[in-house]
Amino acid sequence: MESTLGPRIGKAQGYLRIATEEAWAPPELIKLFRRELAEKTIDDPGFHSLWGFFAGTSERGQLLVDRIQDLGERRLADMDAAGIDKALVSVTCPGVQLFDAATGTALASSFNDQLADAVSRHPTRLAGLAAIAPQDPKRAVQELERAVGKLGLKGAIVNSHTHGEYLDDPKFWDIFAAAEALGVPIYLHPMTPSKAMIEPFLARGLDGAVFGFAIETGLHALRLVVAGVFDRFPRLQIVLGHLGEGLPFWLTRLDFMHNIIVRTNRYGAAAPKLAKPMSAYLRENFHYTTSGMGWTPAIMFVHQVIGIDRLLYAMDYPYQYVPEEVIEQDNLPLSAADKRQFFQTNAERLFAL
Ligand code: MN
Repeated sequence: MESTLGPRIGKAQGYLRIATEEAWAPPELIKLFRRELAEKTIDDPGFHSLWGFFAGTSERGQLLVDRIQDLGERRLADMDAAGIDKALVSVTCPGVQLFDAATGTALASSFNDQLADAVSRHPTRLAGLAAIAPQDPKRAVQELERAVGKLGLKGAIVNSHTHGEYLDDPKFWDIFAAAEALGVPIYLHPMTPSKAMIEPFLARGLDGAVFGFAIETGLHALRLVVAGVFDRFPRLQIVLGHLGEGLPFWLTRLDFMHNIIVRTNRYGAAAPKLAKPMSAYLRENFHYTTSGMGWTPAIMFVHQVIGIDRLLYAMDYPYQYVPEEVIEQDNLPLSAADKRQFFQTNAERLFAL
């Protein structure tokens, strides 16, 4: 992108722009994705659809694969051109969750070392979230503790389902206990829908970021709420991109219907009574970023129903490298104080930057 009029880095606007959902794929991960695309040993139709495209021969795919592997000059130049002061980087979907437990665990550790190394070379421009492999919850906890405590990473990313399983299963809850104890958030990032629900999406090309991501990830978030994760871990913070995958639009209907479900005990222990209405958890245990949703009316709706304290800027580089969306968000009808929270200080607080 060549521009002389576009957004600039620095505090010319009165705030720094911190982008909080920025993707990275270590070259080794791209190699492993390509090998899986060729050998087809993993039964995940969403992965094959998504990365079959991005690792293929389209111009968009090639540009993406080129950009996403860089944590140095290429990325910094793109950040400069789009006015991004700092990027909070995380391993792209499905990340280490595609693999078996031993492979995923080993890759997470290696990727976190590489990310921490890049951050140490560009400490004012980059920060990182840790990769963890929920396939082995115990090792995932150890890696989260190491990544935050020793490497200085700022939380963890989980790319939605892991081999079709969701984190509301109590076997994963030690991960939440660790995040809560460390005081770091978990970014629940999209992936294509799990095998059990992807077929009707695939049939019309709706499995990816166009819509399937939001359904998969919104469902995952609601499963956490309904399972009582936040009654058990009241200080746990989950971050959702794409303006909460649509969930803020649902607050009143969720409360009305969930109240009926628990009052009639319709699903027994699967949908237990909670301490609070569903909307309360979505207001108190979640933060929302604007990744891929640089659209003023939608952002202002979330500002209205969730509030400025939990609304953060994200670009979703390099998937959504659209500098015009930065300008649109610079021009949001917010006060100067709210805009500074949105672009800068909410991220600094939540991720301890
Ligand atoms: Mn993303």
